[in-house]
Amino acid sequence: MTAKHYGLIVVGLGAMGSAALYQACKRGVKALGIDRFTPPHTMGSSHGDTRITRNAIGEGEVYMPFVERSNEIWRDLEAATGSALFHQSGGLIIGGEKAVAFHYQGDFVDASARIADKFGIAYEILSADELRERFPLLTPRDSDRAYYEPGAGVLRPERCIQTQLDLARGDGAIIHTGEKVTGYEIGASAVTVNTEKGSYSADKLILSAGAWIADFLPATHRAGIRVNRQLIHWFEAEDRDRFHPERFPFVIWIGDTLEDFWSVFPAPSDGMAGVKLVTEQYHTSTAPDEVSRVVTEEEAADMYHRLTRPRLKGLRENQLLAEVCLYTLTADEDFVIDFHPASERVVVASPCSGHGFKHSAAIGETLVQLALDGGSAFDISAFKLARLFNPL
Ligand SMILES: Cc1cc2nc3c(=O)[nH]c(=O)nc-3n(C[C@H](O)[C@H](O)[C@H](O)COP(=O)(O)OP(=O)(O)OC[C@H]3O[C@@H](n4cnc5c(N)ncnc54)[C@H](O)[C@@H]3O)c2cc1C
Repeated sequence: MTAKHYGLIVVGLGAMGSAALYQACKRGVKALGIDRFTPPHTMGSSHGDTRITRNAIGEGEVYMPFVERSNEIWRDLEAATGSALFHQSGGLIIGGEKAVAFHYQGDFVDASARIADKFGIAYEILSADELRERFPLLTPRDSDRAYYEPGAGVLRPERCIQTQLDLARGDGAIIHTGEKVTGYEIGASAVTVNTEKGSYSADKLILSAGAWIADFLPATHRAGIRVNRQLIHWFEAEDRDRFHPERFPFVIWIGDTLEDFWSVFPAPSDGMAGVKLVTEQYHTSTAPDEVSRVVTEEEAADMYHRLTRPRLKGLRENQLLAEVCLYTLTADEDFVIDFHPASERVVVASPCSGHGFKHSAAIGETLVQLALDGGSAFDISAFKLARLFNPL
């Protein structure tokens, strides 16, 4: 073995990779993490200051162990570092008579309530009148209703990534940033990872390349992944303090069509200026190296006039900032967490589909269990790579 041999290499140090590197180093593994940019950065899927986390995961029971374990890890990380990673703002999921979200094909308000009932999570169902009374900035239609979960809130994604990378480095991780991985070879006794700057070998490899994951998959599995450009906008508030996490919950507002989906986020006092708004689009896919990173005036106007004004008071038509962010989607909206089809030396992670961050701390732990122990504590049978298989 050469001097550049490691127990584990992690390719991609965003939400999933930083968590995996941290967990591996906690276990005493000699690990190398490589990223083409310098995480946390704004080129992938994990930027934008806040990410929603809920305790009742309406997307399905299979996600519950991941969010529960992630919550424990976030709390441990906060205790170890003193860094605030989570703000408990409460969270609302608002919908009309049929609140069908893209990542859940039934009524997402009802689905969240069902999971909350089953797992003993506190929540309320609020009518439109109750919503107006409790959250006067919101202007629902009479036909709207909401699932309100007081224990939900927002994570700080850049801090979560930075904290886990710092701790990993403190535990001996070698981290190479600004180094693009160009490929890898699976051998009988090791894996070799090639980059623009060199080659490294390891016993095991975790591929957590986010929107670029298809570059690392066999040709037969690439078409099962698509990447969609999404937008994050920050608009000026008349009084930003009214959006503080102690006074304002996150809102996921499921409209009558997919194009009406809209979210507004609480604004932590040490967060980015303005109030963050997002929507989703599923009609046009892109490639991460070709996507337009510019948010147009038309897109800003659509966010303000069509999606925000009818639902929320207190924001001015003054966009302070906008960013492009990438969803990596599978056809069923579920994650990929599995061994590579050619070898159990390689673990593949593609947990995005717009709802992965809240689970990322536990996913990192699971990826390391797969790589080092050959199996995982949690059931990952729903996340098989074989779902993506397409004969060429
Ligand atoms: C707008 C938006 C809003 C979202 N909101 C939520 C939310 O509220 N709640 C929630 O739970 N989830 C949310 N998500 C989803 C969540 O953010 C993602 O699931 C998660 O961030 C994905 O993490 P990742 O590690 O897979 O990707 P990333 O964090 O993007 O990491 C991938 C890394 O791989 C690196 N890489 C790629 N190719 C190479 C290469 N060749 N060599 C070296 N490095 C490479 C990249 O540089 C990058 O750092 C949202 C996503 C978006 C885009």
